[in-house]
Amino acid sequence: MHVPTNELEQRILKFLDTRERYERLMPSVREIGDAVGLKSSSSTHAILRDLHSRGLIEWEPRVSRSVRLRRGGGVCPLCGGTGRAPASESVEEPVHSA
Ligand SMILES: [Zn+2]
Repeated sequence: MHVPTNELEQRILKFLDTRERYERLMPSVREIGDAVGLKSSSSTHAILRDLHSRGLIEWEPRVSRSVRLRRGGGVCPLCGGTGRAPASESVEEPVHSA
């Protein structure tokens, strides 16, 4: 399955891939934003929501550091979603301060 991604999305996916290979701890949303030069965590959240809805990442937004690359299709093991965002996911996510 090939899903088109823009340059920023590719940088995020590459960052997640590197973290997954070399670190035990996955990055927080803030760290992902910092890694690709996004200034606000709300824009990072928006991009992650989009990648999640397109089946490119696994993510349970209520659980910190739960973002990881999604390998293969099927049901997202974290939230149980099938890749299409349910209506409830359009609700603004609470942003946790560090
Ligand atoms: Zn999910």
